[in-house]
Amino acid sequence: MERAQDALRKAGIHFLTNEPMSKRTTLRLGGPADVFCTPRHIEELRMILAIARETGTPLTVIGQGSNLLVLDGGIRGIVVKADFQQVTADDMILKAGAGCMLHRLSEVAAAHSLAGLAFASGIPGTVGGAVYMNAGAYGGEISQVFRCAHGLTMDGEETEMTDLHFSYRHSDLQDGSCIVTEVTFSLQKGDKAEIRKEMSEYQKKREEKQPLGYPSAGSTFKRPEGDYAARLIDSCGLRGLKIGGAQVSEKHAGFLLNLGGTAKDFISLMQEVQKRVYLETGILLEPEVRILGEE
Ligand SMILES: Cc1cc2nc3c(=O)[nH]c(=O)nc-3n(C[C@H](O)[C@H](O)[C@H](O)COP(=O)(O)OP(=O)(O)OC[C@H]3O[C@@H](n4cnc5c(N)ncnc54)[C@H](O)[C@@H]3O)c2cc1C
Repeated sequence: MERAQDALRKAGIHFLTNEPMSKRTTLRLGGPADVFCTPRHIEELRMILAIARETGTPLTVIGQGSNLLVLDGGIRGIVVKADFQQVTADDMILKAGAGCMLHRLSEVAAAHSLAGLAFASGIPGTVGGAVYMNAGAYGGEISQVFRCAHGLTMDGEETEMTDLHFSYRHSDLQDGSCIVTEVTFSLQKGDKAEIRKEMSEYQKKREEKQPLGYPSAGSTFKRPEGDYAARLIDSCGLRGLKIGGAQVSEKHAGFLLNLGGTAKDFISLMQEVQKRVYLETGILLEPEVRILGEE
């Protein structure tokens, strides 16, 4: 790790050491990242990738940390947040940096009377994380508005991706071969007031149904074929189940919450929920949350 830190210093790249990942995730869980960098532009990201390669240091990319469970031992090596924020609109095309929050992206789309991104306005993640996850809500998902993405391969080569083979909460980015830097969306002309109305209706629904005041990563499990994780968890009587500081939300059984515990508590609760749902229904819930780091 020292060689990588020396090289980052020599290259003039700002970084933090032992950065608690609990500060970088909406679940507020996770031990420290050895090194945490927020590159300001693509060249800096390319340098970080080169340093990681040359020093044999593992590299992990994150967005807003809203779909991450980082384990208590933290993350070895370099964690990079590709925080590129630019957004531009040209006719029905919107281009956004990977670090742009979906809420802002949807606002810019609405301001330009562009329809297609209202579904994303309440998803608390970045453009990069949303494409990686093919995030979706209320019948919409990223695949419907995605046109192409630019990024860097782990070798630092620029790449353009037009087909990421999206499916439910899946994209080809999940093979870890590339860091997204910018995404282009293809939208449709709409009515500004209608788009804003749709966005506020979705927000109202979220506030009514989701435990937004507590640390979570949203739905912990994927929707199983033909059913809902929350319905299954509820039908097994697990609403409110608590292990240490982790709890199945009373308000929405699909959300597992961190009420001041550890990642270990959270994993134990996930496993207990999976086990009990499996024993009662024969369905194995698959995590939607991405698990990173060491125990
Ligand atoms: C309250 C709440 C509500 C939510 N509601 C929804 C919902 O309705 N629908 C939904 O789909 N999700 C929902 N989520 C989950 C989450 O917001 C989404 O999955 C979101 O897209 C994750 O984006 P992120 O920037 O936080 O990514 P992170 O959680 O930081 O990362 C997720 C994955 O993306 C990868 N990644 C991030 N950025 C890049 C990049 N630039 N290049 C390559 N890989 C990258 C990371 O390596 C990681 O594997 C919710 C979460 C919360 C807390």
